[in-house]
Amino acid sequence: MSETLDITIALLKQQSLTPDDAGCMDIMADYLKQRDFTIEWMNFGNTRNLWARKGAEAPLFCFAGHTDVVPTGPLEEWNTPPFEPTIKDGCLYARGAADMKGSLAAMLTACDTFINAHHDHKGSIAFLITSDEEGPAHDGTVKVIEKLSDRNEKIDYCIVGEPSSYKTFGDMVRVGRRGSINGYLTLFGKQGHVAYPELVENPIHALSPILSLLTAETYDNGNEYFPPTSFQISNINAGTGVENVVPGQLNLVFNLRFSSELTPEEIKRRITYIVDQNSDDYELTWQVSGLPFITEKGTLTTAVEQALLEVTEKKPILSTGGGTSDGRFIAPTGAQLIELGPINATIHKVNECVNVDELDLLSLTYSKILENILL
Ligand SMILES: [Zn+2]
Repeated sequence: MSETLDITIALLKQQSLTPDDAGCMDIMADYLKQRDFTIEWMNFGNTRNLWARKGAEAPLFCFAGHTDVVPTGPLEEWNTPPFEPTIKDGCLYARGAADMKGSLAAMLTACDTFINAHHDHKGSIAFLITSDEEGPAHDGTVKVIEKLSDRNEKIDYCIVGEPSSYKTFGDMVRVGRRGSINGYLTLFGKQGHVAYPELVENPIHALSPILSLLTAETYDNGNEYFPPTSFQISNINAGTGVENVVPGQLNLVFNLRFSSELTPEEIKRRITYIVDQNSDDYELTWQVSGLPFITEKGTLTTAVEQALLEVTEKKPILSTGGGTSDGRFIAPTGAQLIELGPINATIHKVNECVNVDELDLLSLTYSKILENILL
């Protein structure tokens, strides 16, 4: 049995429902301590964070990840108990197997392989591990990054262990993600009887030109890394439910997934202009839920591509798709960051699993990336 599989199983036995670490980080910290890492706990609220570092030199290469898992869902739909890791037909089943305890184990063993083979490597290696990724993510990576910034500790290269692979191991890695902004528009009119048009102001009619302009607008054309920014309306509400009343207001909720060509300020400015030209009684508020980030082609993308080429004999697709990850907190510090992990087909589902072979391939890939960066 491989050491990576061993450690994965040990981590999977801990019932680390977000934000409870349930002892996973102790397993990791013990392993790293034995390899001369300096262990630092950075706990905030009920969240446990581990910062472990070996070496003081630049560049700093960091493995980032989370020990918390999402709830199991209906237990009766699991073929085997979610916290009793079980191997069947070459797959390891348990909550967190793919997202992302397998990656955590692979990071540890990759580190061990690399350090043993190259005592004299340059730079430093660190682990940034949180138990608040699947939850609100207020006390996890974001806080650790704040603390590191306060003392001028800077990550140069970061691999996040999120399950990025699509059909086969290593076929896809994430090099960034789009930004996301929500807009909340209320148009005010004057309520009244439908039979007296001179006495009402219909906010639904007032929306018509605004709607055409907002949906016809070309926000940008995307770029080498991102598809064009998209505008979508998710909710529209107006009306009292009866046939003979013009409503007094209309509420619209929309979202833009935006590329690195745009800033939230630019989006707000352009949409406010369109609304303002067509209404003199409205309210428009915003919520930015994430800024876009991108790791442009360079040292880290090359290191990852070469490692995967050696291990899988294929180059990965560099993608900016998918949902959010803690990468959004690390990338803005200027770190080159890539998400690379196992196949994500079963994550957050019942009967979550990871291919046992993938664990060793992942460990091998991580160690080759370390070689490509720190030798
Ligand atoms: Zn995850």
